[in-house]
Amino acid sequence: MTFHPTRLHRKPGIGAAPAIGPGEPVVPQSVSGRFRRLKWAAVGLCLALYYVLPFLRYDRGPGQPDQAILFDLAGLRFHLAGLELRPQELYLLTGLLVLATLVLVLSNVVAGRIWCGFFCPQTVWTDLFLWVERRLEGDRRERLRQLYLPMTPARALRRVAKHAIWLMIAAGTGGAFALYFADAPTLLREILTGEAGTVAYGAVLSLTLTTYTLAGFAREKMCTYMCPWPRLQGAVWDAEAFGVAYRDYRGEARMSAKKAAAARASGLPAGDCVDCMACVTVCPMGIDIREGPNLACINCGLCVDACDTTMQKLERPRGLIDYESWTNIERGRKGEACVPVRLVRPKTLALALAGLAMAIALVAVVATRATLSLSVAHERNPVAVELSDGRLRNAYDVRVWHVAGGGGTVALTVEGADGAELRSVSDVGEEADSIAILLDDKGRRRLRVTVTADPSAAGALTFRLTDPASGESVTATDFFHLP
Ligand code: SF4
Ligand code: SF4
Repeated sequence: MTFHPTRLHRKPGIGAAPAIGPGEPVVPQSVSGRFRRLKWAAVGLCLALYYVLPFLRYDRGPGQPDQAILFDLAGLRFHLAGLELRPQELYLLTGLLVLATLVLVLSNVVAGRIWCGFFCPQTVWTDLFLWVERRLEGDRRERLRQLYLPMTPARALRRVAKHAIWLMIAAGTGGAFALYFADAPTLLREILTGEAGTVAYGAVLSLTLTTYTLAGFAREKMCTYMCPWPRLQGAVWDAEAFGVAYRDYRGEARMSAKKAAAARASGLPAGDCVDCMACVTVCPMGIDIREGPNLACINCGLCVDACDTTMQKLERPRGLIDYESWTNIERGRKGEACVPVRLVRPKTLALALAGLAMAIALVAVVATRATLSLSVAHERNPVAVELSDGRLRNAYDVRVWHVAGGGGTVALTVEGADGAELRSVSDVGEEADSIAILLDDKGRRRLRVTVTADPSAAGALTFRLTDPASGESVTATDFFHLP
């Protein structure tokens, strides 16, 4: 079984508007049914989560941000409820992305591009934009008709209103995204009252334009040509995956309902497909699923709803187009009964185990990660200063961080150079071989320290940061240089 290359449909529905040619817009017809309802539920869920999440609070103690999900760019931290990630822990984000990829691939192996059809932001916002378009400019037939009519003041007004509403939705989308990067209620008030900074307005503007362009104009082109997933799915998909498919063994040969009824009355075979094109006209990707599996199909199920409606009208069993495995399509062609889809098979098992292992590893890493962080960078100019007593002095930029935050004191020492003196230029409580560092209320401190030692000490140095309260310590290595 091979995927067809992407095709955009070229035929309008029966008795619909003039034929549209290649390159002309895909104008999907509205449809109702089980999958349309499911898609609306998914749109509602995704939008609710997107707009509500920045306003959820999480108490992290005094002086700490109380937003449950916060990309704190100023504080260089990412907060997810009780979890806090620092820039040096980006590997955890990589792990999360790997986990998300495994889940996405698993969902694809089980049920094709189900994510794309129901939950992808491109799908969700395109659905919303299409709904606005239909409300203002009519359904497919009317919108296609308008392509060939001269503009009138009433239509111009409707078009302006459509773009204005699109821009409002897009601005709401961009605005909500910015709320994940600062205290949401405060930033929202500042944005609305014109008190927010240029960066905030710049972010909102760029996301507004992105949403407006992708959901208003790019639509299916984004999913077919710009997103890499359609290309990747060919590699992960298999014949036992649930996917929207046309039961050609039942639908062919296509003929009108009248001819099919006459043929059946005479005991002759007749297909159930009446070539009404309803499945094609509702498709948001502009494809004809009857031609076989298609890379562009996002498994949204709208063609299933459309065909079920036709079958219902014709009093034929529904499911001519349905979620089905390709194995069963081929069995049906041979006249064999369909078999239950095997959810547990080597590929799904391997992916599920890999995902589980990654999730366990991430939890273990987070649970056992160090609560102290130390980074040391040698100052380059000058590399070393020679003192009057013959000793050398090297300077270092030191950053310390205690995950728990909330002030406190940690101790910095240096190892590896006999008789080395550690001094802090910007802190208090220093001793010859140790510096007591006062942390700020976020548990951080940056300071300049110097190490003074004999030239014979040139080589590797180990800086050790210790939390006297817990006894935990971390180290960072740098060098003691000659001039
Ligand atoms: S072919 Fe059917 S399932 Fe696939 S994108 Fe079109 S309407 Fe959705
Ligand atoms: S909706 Fe059903 S009957 Fe109509 S063309 Fe598509 S497959 Fe055939």
